[in-house]
Amino acid sequence: MRIVLAGGGVIALLTAVECVSAGHEVVIADQADIPFSGATSFDRHRVLRALHRDDLATTAAAVSAHHAWIDLEQVLATSFYEQVGALTAVAARQAPAAQELLIAAGSKAEVFGADDLAAEFPHAGFAPGTGAVFEAHAGVLLADRVLAACAGWLRWHAHAELHPHRKVIGVDAGRAEVRLADGEVLKGDAVLLAAGPWSRDLLAPELSRELVLHRQTMLYCDVPPADAAAWAATPAITSLGTPGGAWLVPPVAGTPLKLSAASACRVVDEVGGGVAPSWWREHLIDTFAALIPGFRRDWLVDTRDCHYLARRSTLGPMLAVLGDRVLSYAACGGSSFKFAPLIARSLAARLTGAAPVTTGLEPLDRPLVRASGIHPTRPALRGVS
Ligand SMILES: Cc1cc2nc3c(=O)[nH]c(=O)nc-3n(C[C@H](O)[C@H](O)[C@H](O)COP(=O)(O)OP(=O)(O)OC[C@H]3O[C@@H](n4cnc5c(N)ncnc54)[C@H](O)[C@@H]3O)c2cc1C
Repeated sequence: MRIVLAGGGVIALLTAVECVSAGHEVVIADQADIPFSGATSFDRHRVLRALHRDDLATTAAAVSAHHAWIDLEQVLATSFYEQVGALTAVAARQAPAAQELLIAAGSKAEVFGADDLAAEFPHAGFAPGTGAVFEAHAGVLLADRVLAACAGWLRWHAHAELHPHRKVIGVDAGRAEVRLADGEVLKGDAVLLAAGPWSRDLLAPELSRELVLHRQTMLYCDVPPADAAAWAATPAITSLGTPGGAWLVPPVAGTPLKLSAASACRVVDEVGGGVAPSWWREHLIDTFAALIPGFRRDWLVDTRDCHYLARRSTLGPMLAVLGDRVLSYAACGGSSFKFAPLIARSLAARLTGAAPVTTGLEPLDRPLVRASGIHPTRPALRGVS
């Protein structure tokens, strides 16, 4: 089969790797470079942690994702997964349940009391009095390296065509074809739209209204040499236990320390550039100056804003079945990168008609949006004349 993919982020690239590995042909069109430094997936790191509180299926899926990334390092012959583990702040009374959940899902977990945390990670800035759960099957994915590895693997594969700087402006779901801005039409046996935060531009209003755009600011820092060894031995910290939802990614594999917080995330109307507005930069500087001992603004080496969509009703991703083997996958913030190998397997199976893959993830196992009753047959999507 010939699969046409719109987008060159982690979702489209890993789905393309799956399809090609199963013997199919892929054609990937991105509006910019492949990979594109402005894509949501293109960052120094993304975190993989398994713990999803009170949710065994999703926690187990994340443990599967951990193993899938290790397998992918073999397939793509590149190393991009730093298995430094993850620490998540939890109240002391909830820690045993979180530990049991992780162990039931196949991970290894350890509980840290507030005193243990203060002794082991005095530099990290946990909220006073909080405890944490450490999980071993977790860590940091070097996101930009993942994209480069996928694109490099595909570029030299006889069954893959990469078309950078070819913007998709419309999709005919009935014919499984996409129209490019230069007028060319790419016809496939199946189509995947994986346009990240730009997904709404390609969807009919009934679907695009379902998706809410978010923008989040991040700080990148060089830690002082005296603290470097302590930071190098620090896991990803997905919650410092603060009311503003502060989190950090340690400086692994030569990357800077990354700092952000849920409080630096806001709903916006349009995808803007990656430049962090000064108000949001200052908000994060103030947040971390109050948390990390010795933190100073001259640690800062960079700032960046990234965008993501979330389904209005679930705050998660949205899989839309637009036609027979024509799908749109709008990834979400927080977890779509780590789950990308599972998402890609599931999407590839749907696109190629292979036996369904059970991932344990909503909405992959049960797409929440179906074409019937939502889309007109043709033109199915905005931009088709
Ligand atoms: C601040 C932040 C932190 C995050 N942290 C984590 C984390 O720790 N763990 C985790 O698992 N997830 C995390 N996520 C979520 C994750 O990064 C995203 O869900 C994922 O990277 C989205 O991948 P994608 O391929 O769908 O989109 P993208 O990476 O944005 O790729 C979409 C591609 O489509 C292209 N495109 C768009 N429109 C068109 C068009 N019309 N024609 C052709 N091409 C087009 C773009 O140029 C782009 O290359 C985070 C997200 C944010 C914003």
